[in-house]
Amino acid sequence: MSARGPTEEEIRNIIMPLMLSGAKMLDRHCPNCGSPLFEKDGKVFCPVCEHRKKQQKAEMKGVEERLMEKLNELANSLPEDIDELEKHLRAMEKIIELLERYRKLEGGE
Ligand SMILES: [Zn+2]
Repeated sequence: MSARGPTEEEIRNIIMPLMLSGAKMLDRHCPNCGSPLFEKDGKVFCPVCEHRKKQQKAEMKGVEERLMEKLNELANSLPEDIDELEKHLRAMEKIIELLERYRKLEGGE
């Protein structure tokens, strides 16, 4: 995923309120997205990257929830037929693999 500079919306919704809240805008820029860095309570941070990370996490949570739903659905409707059952289990296995991958992404920095 290539980093892009802050959009107008991000400037309006993230950077402006931050400036109004008394955070100090530094004359350094985020190497990742180009947004000005801010300092608050002695901590230097990029508000845009922080916001994007949070958003991404929320999106991943949404995907995770849908996968869990599907997994439950499959688990609750196991077919009698052995061939069908195997297909079912394979699908469940794939979902579980995906879930694990998502959880790793979420936890890993
Ligand atoms: Zn940034």
